[in-house]
Amino acid sequence: MDTIRIETSGGSYPVHIGKGIRTKWRELIDDYASYSSFFIITDEAVEAHYLSSILGEEKLSYFIVPSGEESKSFEQYHQCMTALLEAELDRKSCIISLGGGVVGDLAGFAAATYMRGIDFIQIPTTLLAHDSSVGGKTGINHELGKNLIGAFHQPAAVIYDIECLRTLPDREWRSGFSEVIKHALIHDETFLNWLVDRRKAVQNYSDEELQFMLKKGINVKGAIVKEDERETGVRAYLNFGHTLGHAIEAELGYGKVTHGEAVAIGMIFALRMSEEYFQTKLRMDELRIWFESLGLPVAVPRELDIMKLLQRMKVDKKAENKSLKFILLKEIGTPTKVSIDDEAALKLLKKSVER
Ligand code: NAD
Ligand code: MG
Repeated sequence: MDTIRIETSGGSYPVHIGKGIRTKWRELIDDYASYSSFFIITDEAVEAHYLSSILGEEKLSYFIVPSGEESKSFEQYHQCMTALLEAELDRKSCIISLGGGVVGDLAGFAAATYMRGIDFIQIPTTLLAHDSSVGGKTGINHELGKNLIGAFHQPAAVIYDIECLRTLPDREWRSGFSEVIKHALIHDETFLNWLVDRRKAVQNYSDEELQFMLKKGINVKGAIVKEDERETGVRAYLNFGHTLGHAIEAELGYGKVTHGEAVAIGMIFALRMSEEYFQTKLRMDELRIWFESLGLPVAVPRELDIMKLLQRMKVDKKAENKSLKFILLKEIGTPTKVSIDDEAALKLLKKSVER
């Protein structure tokens, strides 16, 4: 087992990564005995695979939401709160989030707001959750946009059992891998080379390779969160590939592409833009071919209207004064934020559409 400590303003918490460790969660929580009760929040797919192994012999209360992004809703949040109240959780209770980013964001927000905030721990079950389970962003969606209602609330611990990943559908592996690649691109070219050198899809990684990869990816996320917990500066670098990625997700309709697929297109676009902006070579062609070999999309779908994508990018939650801001790379591992004028962005978008 590896343990990484995530440093935040409110203290630090451990991220344990290992094989089969989910059943040992009781031993892995520092203050297990100090909690008055535990309550599990999970989704239908994860319940079928893993709930019983978390419960063990114990009769814990739990709440199961339908699988998928739709569960990050006011309705599920309300039902979840009702379940917590009915189970009589108090301020010394602890919520366990068992699942991917959807369950993590919902359960985290429930924990952040139940009686003004109680502890929660993350037991992530998707590869994407190496990103979402660390850093303390929690929240739900509003019909006017994703993740618009939320709170910063750090988990008390993250227990990452790589065994859980083995039941993921291929598409979810790929989606999570895209964020792993992002972490490498913005922070660590050696790690990027390690990934490229595997020359295989991430679902074919050995346990040792998976463990190493998660450790590296979480370290990048942890380093950035430590520097900028509330996203007033460098945390924006985690948005590499996301300006266009978010626009594509919103224009296609959520669920048509996975988040990671949209981000893959956005990263190739941002690499292309970086090469033009800084008049440099950044391995864009090589990485595009690598993405394709992994089954990740690299071009803007033909059916999308480029003008609408541009408009979306300008009203992105992270845009400033409705001007276009992109995270670009001066070099691999060296991100920076730049303003781009509409014309230049449009020209590159046209070049990036599927042929
Ligand atoms: P998800 O939680 O919906 O999981 C994807 C699918 O896989 C679901 O259908 C789920 O039921 C299923 N699943 C989960 N674990 C499984 C397993 N071990 N075996 C088989 N099936 C399994 O999605 P996700 O990709 O993990 O997360 C996406 C969400 O994360 C988005 O809502 C996004 O906004 C959020 N997110 C949050 C942060 C953050 O910092 N809080 C960061 C990135 C993404
Ligand atoms: Mg993301």
